[in-house]
Amino acid sequence: MANPVLPSSGVLSPLGLDAVRISPGFWGDRAALNREVTIAHCQEWMERTGWIGNFRGQRPRRGREFSDSEIYKLLEAMAWADHPALPELAETVARAQEGDGYLNTRWSGSRYTDLEWGHELYCYGHLIQAGVARLRTHGEDTLTRTAVRAADHVCRRFMEGTQTDGHPVIEMALVELYRVTGAERYLEMARRFVARRGLPSLGEIHLGRAYFQDDVPVRQAQAFRGHAVRALYLACGAVDVAVETGDEELLKAVESQWERTVARRTHLTGGMGSRHAGESFGDDYELPPDRAYSETCAGIASIMLSLRLLLATGDARYADLAERTLHNVLATGVALDGRSFSYVNPLAVRVPAETPDGMVSHAAEGGPRSPWFDVSCCPSNIARTLASVAAYVATSSADGVRIDQYTPSEISHGGLRLRVETGYPWTGTVRVRVLEGGAGRISLRVPAWASSATLTSSHGESRAVAPGYAGAEREWRPGDELVLELPMEPRWTYPDRRIDALRGCVAVERGPLVYCAEAAGDEPPLAEVAVRPGSALTERADGEVVELETEAVLGASAASAWPYGSAPDGWNGSHGAGPGAALRLIPYHRWGNRGPATMRVWLPVTGEPSG
Ligand SMILES: [Zn+2]
Repeated sequence: MANPVLPSSGVLSPLGLDAVRISPGFWGDRAALNREVTIAHCQEWMERTGWIGNFRGQRPRRGREFSDSEIYKLLEAMAWADHPALPELAETVARAQEGDGYLNTRWSGSRYTDLEWGHELYCYGHLIQAGVARLRTHGEDTLTRTAVRAADHVCRRFMEGTQTDGHPVIEMALVELYRVTGAERYLEMARRFVARRGLPSLGEIHLGRAYFQDDVPVRQAQAFRGHAVRALYLACGAVDVAVETGDEELLKAVESQWERTVARRTHLTGGMGSRHAGESFGDDYELPPDRAYSETCAGIASIMLSLRLLLATGDARYADLAERTLHNVLATGVALDGRSFSYVNPLAVRVPAETPDGMVSHAAEGGPRSPWFDVSCCPSNIARTLASVAAYVATSSADGVRIDQYTPSEISHGGLRLRVETGYPWTGTVRVRVLEGGAGRISLRVPAWASSATLTSSHGESRAVAPGYAGAEREWRPGDELVLELPMEPRWTYPDRRIDALRGCVAVERGPLVYCAEAAGDEPPLAEVAVRPGSALTERADGEVVELETEAVLGASAASAWPYGSAPDGWNGSHGAGPGAALRLIPYHRWGNRGPATMRVWLPVTGEPSG
């Protein structure tokens, strides 16, 4: 079955890309754009930068030490999308593989001399994931043989000893290769890599061992910490190992780390990572909007982890976080034209800037999206995720089908064939129509934000449903329907007061979408905007897109020589607080598509007495 994650046990089973067909709609449109534009865009840049040429032996070698992994993630995207460019690119990669399976364009000749920073096993991890995708969508070919030879080489070289890699991903890749081939050595190698980390297994680095989660063993950690992508990829591998080996303690450990991280270390968008230094998680409640890191890859890694935990436990909270992160990080990571990408996803941008026309440093501060980066992990990660986004739509349980994410699609399971019709996330009606009948339960997820949802069936029942899963069980016949109505009124959202950086601010959400104010062109600047929470949020349709408007105060303070003083700097008094003005709010994922702009999700609350 075609799916990136296929556990052999768990409360839920994934429905593969062959069982879930997404049609035009929010995610269907993005998957089509990805297949038609983004995949070719990535390949062009990998040629232009010489990263593919490295596999042809071109010298000097170009790109960072981990650039091979971008070609592998692109191959994975091509595999899910059944893209015609895959065979030739796979041949190019295969020709660079050495006789014993070793394959790396940077370290050939000096193998495994820098496990902390070398990324050799990391690169194999992405190669193996590409191979698994190809095995599940096509069957054995050059790409799958290359991946299996690399995995066998890793098992021979690393099965004994204490070594592991500075950047996790090999763990979950090997478990998936075990799942598709049945070869136990891959699972055992993954289990050992997870168990070794934190003993410690790696050398000292200037960022400290927590950077690559080598400070404490996985099962003893309290929260995700250090480099966010590393931490989340490791957690994915740990869940995969736990599920396949029946290690309940390890699964529980990751669940409790997820809980604490979601409660204290996650941005409103679902983004993870607070610090530019080390691209890392911050301390609890350290969530600055303007300096948020929230790397696109960390959002993707969190979505991958959510799916694994959902499958293992059946708990709707994991699908809830996946929904938030899909709509507000993954969808933000790529421009509406599919040709530029964000690496960092701050929740406030102070300085407008043009989209660059060439490659930029990944250390760019998170202004406009860019066509390519010196470290270009995010574009290829977006490409492989959008190519397999149908994997998140539905799952099956012992008694039927669960629909976890809403987008127009057709879902087949057992004898049942269902069509999901919806304008989500713009409208809150999700209509599930039975095309081919059968017995069983059809369940729909009611998101945690849905305070008043109703479920109506064509058999005449209508009832209020609470967050979690709601559904009905019967012998379904063609034409039967279930209709979920979700409340799409925009809502004001307040931060926990322990998040210092957000104190005195509010945000606006509607359905699964976080909204932001954006100022492009000659629109009034946002530096001194303030709002009155609780005031009206008016919807304005722009095509199918729903924008919002609320009343705001736009301040205009005089320049000051010293930005501190002996009296509170309120909105009353001498700060030139203007009369009420209309403030337009757009979905956060659409920001930065109208030219240079400033942006903010969190809006200061005006100190003026409300009228
Ligand atoms: Zn990235």
